[in-house]
Amino acid sequence: APAGDALLAVRGLRVVFDGFVAIDGIDFTVNRGELRFLIGPNGAGKTTLVDVITGLTKPASGSVTFAGTELVGQREHRIVRLGIGRTFQTATVFEELTVLENIDLAASFRLPVPALFRRRKGVGDRVAQVLETTQLAELASRKAGILSHGQRQWLEIGMLLAQDPRLLLLDEPVAGMTKDERERTGQLLQQIAKEHTVVVIEHDMEFLRRFARLVTVLHEGKVLMEGTVAEVQADRRVQEVYLGR
Ligand code: ADP
Repeated sequence: APAGDALLAVRGLRVVFDGFVAIDGIDFTVNRGELRFLIGPNGAGKTTLVDVITGLTKPASGSVTFAGTELVGQREHRIVRLGIGRTFQTATVFEELTVLENIDLAASFRLPVPALFRRRKGVGDRVAQVLETTQLAELASRKAGILSHGQRQWLEIGMLLAQDPRLLLLDEPVAGMTKDERERTGQLLQQIAKEHTVVVIEHDMEFLRRFARLVTVLHEGKVLMEGTVAEVQADRRVQEVYLGR
Protein backbone atom coordinates (compact mmCIF):
# COMPACT_ATOMS: atom_id res chain seq x y z
CA ALA A 1 0.00 0.00 0.00
CA PRO A 2 1.23 3.54 -0.64
CA ALA A 3 2.83 5.51 2.19
CA GLY A 4 0.28 7.75 3.83
CA ASP A 5 -2.34 5.03 3.75
CA ALA A 6 -1.73 4.34 7.44
CA LEU A 7 -4.79 3.43 9.47
CA LEU A 8 -2.83 2.87 12.68
CA ALA A 9 0.42 4.67 13.47
CA VAL A 10 2.30 4.01 16.70
CA ARG A 11 5.19 6.43 17.24
CA GLY A 12 7.95 6.44 19.84
CA LEU A 13 5.91 4.30 22.20
CA ARG A 14 7.31 3.62 25.63
CA VAL A 15 5.56 1.71 28.41
CA VAL A 16 7.06 1.39 31.89
CA PHE A 17 5.67 -0.81 34.69
CA ASP A 18 7.19 0.06 38.07
CA GLY A 19 10.50 1.00 36.46
CA PHE A 20 10.47 -2.01 34.11
CA VAL A 21 10.52 -0.94 30.47
CA ALA A 22 8.04 -3.22 28.70
CA ILE A 23 7.88 -1.18 25.45
CA ASP A 24 11.06 0.63 24.59
CA GLY A 25 10.45 3.03 21.71
CA ILE A 26 8.23 1.22 19.23
CA ASP A 27 7.21 2.61 15.85
CA PHE A 28 4.56 0.46 14.20
CA THR A 29 2.39 1.28 11.19
CA VAL A 30 -0.53 -0.68 9.81
CA ASN A 31 -1.97 0.39 6.50
CA ARG A 32 -5.62 0.12 5.52
CA GLY A 33 -6.62 -3.34 4.38
CA GLU A 34 -3.55 -5.09 5.76
CA LEU A 35 -3.50 -8.47 7.46
CA ARG A 36 -0.51 -8.01 9.76
CA PHE A 37 0.98 -10.63 12.05
CA LEU A 38 2.75 -9.73 15.26
CA ILE A 39 5.18 -12.29 16.65
CA GLY A 40 7.93 -12.47 19.25
CA PRO A 41 8.95 -14.52 22.28
CA ASN A 42 7.05 -14.36 25.57
CA GLY A 43 7.53 -11.01 27.23
CA ALA A 44 8.36 -9.25 23.94
CA GLY A 45 5.58 -6.70 24.52
CA LYS A 46 2.91 -7.88 22.07
CA THR A 47 0.01 -7.84 24.52
CA THR A 48 1.17 -4.58 26.05
CA LEU A 49 1.21 -2.97 22.60
CA VAL A 50 -2.36 -4.12 21.98
CA ASP A 51 -3.33 -2.96 25.49
CA VAL A 52 -2.06 0.53 24.72
CA ILE A 53 -3.88 0.67 21.37
CA THR A 54 -7.14 -0.36 23.04
CA GLY A 55 -6.78 2.05 25.96
CA LEU A 56 -6.15 -0.52 28.70
CA THR A 57 -2.60 0.61 29.40
CA LYS A 58 -1.30 4.17 29.48
CA PRO A 59 2.12 4.68 27.90
CA ALA A 60 4.88 6.71 29.52
CA SER A 61 5.35 8.47 26.20
CA GLY A 62 4.62 8.21 22.50
CA SER A 63 1.53 8.45 20.36
CA VAL A 64 -0.97 6.12 18.75
CA THR A 65 -3.06 7.59 15.97
CA PHE A 66 -5.98 5.78 14.37
CA ALA A 67 -7.36 7.29 11.17
CA GLY A 68 -5.71 10.51 12.29
CA THR A 69 -7.20 10.52 15.82
CA GLU A 70 -4.90 10.35 18.84
CA LEU A 71 -5.83 7.35 20.99
CA VAL A 72 -3.51 7.91 23.93
CA GLY A 73 -5.58 9.33 26.76
CA GLN A 74 -8.90 8.12 25.29
CA ARG A 75 -11.09 5.75 27.28
CA GLU A 76 -11.56 2.14 26.26
CA HIS A 77 -15.21 2.60 25.23
CA ARG A 78 -14.42 5.57 23.06
CA ILE A 79 -11.72 3.57 21.28
CA VAL A 80 -14.24 0.81 20.57
CA ARG A 81 -16.61 3.44 19.15
CA LEU A 82 -13.85 4.79 16.96
CA GLY A 83 -13.81 1.34 15.34
CA ILE A 84 -11.22 -0.84 17.04
CA GLY A 85 -12.30 -4.32 18.13
CA ARG A 86 -10.24 -6.81 20.04
CA THR A 87 -10.36 -10.46 21.07
CA PHE A 88 -8.54 -11.99 24.01
CA GLN A 89 -6.84 -15.37 24.24
CA THR A 90 -9.79 -16.74 26.15
CA ALA A 91 -12.92 -16.10 24.12
CA THR A 92 -15.58 -14.11 25.95
CA VAL A 93 -19.05 -15.21 24.89
CA PHE A 94 -22.38 -15.31 26.72
CA GLU A 95 -22.74 -19.03 27.35
CA GLU A 96 -26.46 -18.94 28.19
CA LEU A 97 -27.33 -17.10 24.99
CA THR A 98 -27.51 -18.66 21.55
CA VAL A 99 -24.95 -17.98 18.86
CA LEU A 100 -27.43 -15.70 17.11
CA GLU A 101 -28.22 -13.81 20.33
CA ASN A 102 -24.52 -13.30 21.04
CA ILE A 103 -23.94 -11.76 17.61
CA ASP A 104 -27.16 -9.76 17.81
CA LEU A 105 -26.16 -8.34 21.17
CA ALA A 106 -22.72 -7.39 19.90
CA ALA A 107 -24.26 -5.76 16.82
CA SER A 108 -26.64 -3.70 18.96
CA PHE A 109 -24.09 -2.58 21.48
CA ARG A 110 -22.60 0.42 19.78
CA LEU A 111 -25.96 2.09 19.17
CA PRO A 112 -28.20 4.10 21.47
CA VAL A 113 -31.69 2.57 21.71
CA PRO A 114 -33.64 4.95 19.39
CA ALA A 115 -30.99 4.53 16.74
CA LEU A 116 -31.22 0.81 17.30
CA PHE A 117 -34.92 0.77 16.43
CA ARG A 118 -34.35 2.85 13.34
CA ARG A 119 -31.54 0.61 12.23
CA ARG A 120 -33.01 -2.70 13.28
CA LYS A 121 -33.23 -4.02 9.76
CA GLY A 122 -29.69 -2.99 9.00
CA VAL A 123 -28.50 -4.70 12.15
CA GLY A 124 -30.40 -7.85 11.17
CA ASP A 125 -28.69 -7.89 7.81
CA ARG A 126 -25.33 -7.50 9.45
CA VAL A 127 -26.01 -10.40 11.83
CA ALA A 128 -26.96 -12.65 8.91
CA GLN A 129 -23.83 -11.63 7.09
CA VAL A 130 -21.65 -12.36 10.13
CA LEU A 131 -23.24 -15.80 10.54
CA GLU A 132 -22.38 -16.51 6.94
CA THR A 133 -18.81 -15.18 7.09
CA THR A 134 -18.02 -17.15 10.24
CA GLN A 135 -19.88 -20.22 8.93
CA LEU A 136 -21.88 -20.36 12.15
CA ALA A 137 -25.34 -20.19 10.54
CA GLU A 138 -26.06 -23.87 11.27
CA LEU A 139 -25.27 -23.27 14.94
CA ALA A 140 -27.29 -20.04 15.19
CA SER A 141 -29.87 -21.44 17.60
CA ARG A 142 -27.42 -23.40 19.77
CA LYS A 143 -26.31 -22.09 23.14
CA ALA A 144 -22.80 -20.66 23.06
CA GLY A 145 -21.95 -22.74 26.13
CA ILE A 146 -21.99 -25.98 24.12
CA LEU A 147 -19.63 -24.75 21.39
CA SER A 148 -16.23 -26.34 20.84
CA HIS A 149 -13.11 -24.27 21.50
CA GLY A 150 -12.76 -23.43 17.82
CA GLN A 151 -16.41 -22.48 17.42
CA ARG A 152 -16.17 -20.16 20.44
CA GLN A 153 -13.23 -18.37 18.86
CA TRP A 154 -15.17 -17.92 15.61
CA LEU A 155 -18.16 -16.66 17.56
CA GLU A 156 -16.03 -14.10 19.36
CA ILE A 157 -14.60 -12.94 16.02
CA GLY A 158 -18.18 -12.82 14.71
CA MET A 159 -19.20 -10.63 17.65
CA LEU A 160 -16.40 -8.24 16.73
CA LEU A 161 -17.45 -8.25 13.08
CA ALA A 162 -21.01 -7.47 14.13
CA GLN A 163 -19.70 -4.18 15.49
CA ASP A 164 -18.19 -3.49 12.08
CA PRO A 165 -14.81 -2.29 13.35
CA ARG A 166 -12.30 -0.77 10.98
CA LEU A 167 -9.46 -2.49 12.82
CA LEU A 168 -9.56 -5.94 14.44
CA LEU A 169 -6.88 -6.98 16.91
CA LEU A 170 -6.84 -10.74 17.49
CA ASP A 171 -4.79 -12.39 20.22
CA GLU A 172 -3.62 -15.88 19.22
CA PRO A 173 -6.87 -16.94 17.56
CA VAL A 174 -5.62 -20.42 16.61
CA ALA A 175 -4.09 -21.35 19.98
CA GLY A 176 -5.46 -24.75 21.01
CA MET A 177 -7.15 -25.37 17.67
CA THR A 178 -7.01 -28.56 15.63
CA LYS A 179 -5.37 -28.54 12.21
CA ASP A 180 -8.73 -28.28 10.46
CA GLU A 181 -9.84 -25.46 12.73
CA ARG A 182 -6.60 -23.58 12.05
CA GLU A 183 -7.13 -23.92 8.33
CA ARG A 184 -10.66 -22.60 8.60
CA THR A 185 -9.52 -19.74 10.84
CA GLY A 186 -6.79 -18.77 8.39
CA GLN A 187 -9.33 -18.62 5.61
CA LEU A 188 -11.66 -16.61 7.83
CA LEU A 189 -8.88 -14.10 8.54
CA GLN A 190 -8.16 -13.70 4.84
CA GLN A 191 -11.85 -13.22 4.18
CA ILE A 192 -12.13 -10.59 6.92
CA ALA A 193 -9.05 -8.78 5.65
CA LYS A 194 -10.85 -8.10 2.36
CA GLU A 195 -13.04 -5.55 4.14
CA HIS A 196 -11.20 -4.75 7.36
CA THR A 197 -7.70 -4.14 8.63
CA VAL A 198 -6.51 -6.97 10.86
CA VAL A 199 -3.60 -7.36 13.29
CA VAL A 200 -3.03 -10.88 14.64
CA ILE A 201 -0.74 -11.92 17.48
CA GLU A 202 0.33 -15.43 16.53
CA HIS A 203 3.18 -17.78 17.43
CA ASP A 204 2.48 -20.75 15.21
CA MET A 205 5.09 -20.71 12.43
CA GLU A 206 3.29 -23.29 10.32
CA PHE A 207 0.20 -21.09 10.40
CA LEU A 208 2.27 -18.02 9.53
CA ARG A 209 3.88 -19.77 6.56
CA ARG A 210 0.47 -20.75 5.30
CA PHE A 211 -1.47 -17.52 5.89
CA ALA A 212 0.81 -14.59 6.70
CA ARG A 213 2.51 -12.17 4.38
CA LEU A 214 3.60 -9.21 6.51
CA VAL A 215 5.12 -9.93 9.88
CA THR A 216 6.39 -7.61 12.62
CA VAL A 217 8.76 -9.21 15.13
CA LEU A 218 8.93 -7.75 18.63
CA HIS A 219 11.73 -8.51 21.05
CA GLU A 220 12.37 -6.98 24.47
CA GLY A 221 9.99 -4.12 23.83
CA LYS A 222 11.42 -3.16 20.46
CA VAL A 223 10.64 -3.94 16.84
CA LEU A 224 13.37 -6.42 15.90
CA MET A 225 12.38 -6.50 12.23
CA GLU A 226 9.50 -6.38 9.78
CA GLY A 227 9.12 -8.22 6.55
CA THR A 228 7.57 -11.13 4.74
CA VAL A 229 7.40 -14.50 6.46
CA ALA A 230 10.31 -15.69 4.31
CA GLU A 231 12.43 -12.66 5.24
CA VAL A 232 11.62 -13.04 8.92
CA GLN A 233 12.41 -16.76 8.91
CA ALA A 234 15.73 -16.16 7.14
CA ASP A 235 16.82 -13.43 9.56
CA ARG A 236 19.59 -14.55 11.88
CA ARG A 237 18.51 -12.26 14.73
CA VAL A 238 14.99 -13.64 14.57
CA GLN A 239 16.30 -17.19 14.56
CA GLU A 240 18.41 -16.43 17.61
CA VAL A 241 15.73 -14.80 19.74
CA TYR A 242 12.67 -16.64 18.55
CA LEU A 243 12.71 -19.44 16.06
CA GLY A 244 15.82 -21.25 17.17
CA ARG A 245 14.84 -21.64 20.79
P1 ADP B 1 4.00 -10.71 25.25
O1 ADP B 1 2.56 -10.46 25.01
O2 ADP B 1 4.86 -10.44 24.05
O3 ADP B 1 4.27 -12.08 25.82
P2 ADP B 1 3.67 -8.73 27.33
O4 ADP B 1 3.28 -7.51 26.61
O5 ADP B 1 2.62 -9.54 28.01
O6 ADP B 1 4.53 -9.69 26.35
O7 ADP B 1 4.75 -8.37 28.44
C1 ADP B 1 5.90 -7.56 28.17
C2 ADP B 1 6.69 -7.41 29.46
O8 ADP B 1 6.00 -6.53 30.34
C3 ADP B 1 6.89 -8.72 30.20
O9 ADP B 1 8.18 -8.72 30.77
C4 ADP B 1 5.82 -8.66 31.27
O10 ADP B 1 6.21 -9.38 32.40
C5 ADP B 1 5.72 -7.18 31.57
N1 ADP B 1 4.38 -6.77 31.99
C6 ADP B 1 3.25 -6.85 31.25
N2 ADP B 1 2.20 -6.36 31.91
C7 ADP B 1 2.68 -5.95 33.13
C8 ADP B 1 2.10 -5.33 34.29
N3 ADP B 1 0.79 -5.04 34.33
N4 ADP B 1 2.91 -5.06 35.31
C9 ADP B 1 4.23 -5.34 35.28
N5 ADP B 1 4.85 -5.91 34.23
C10 ADP B 1 4.08 -6.21 33.16
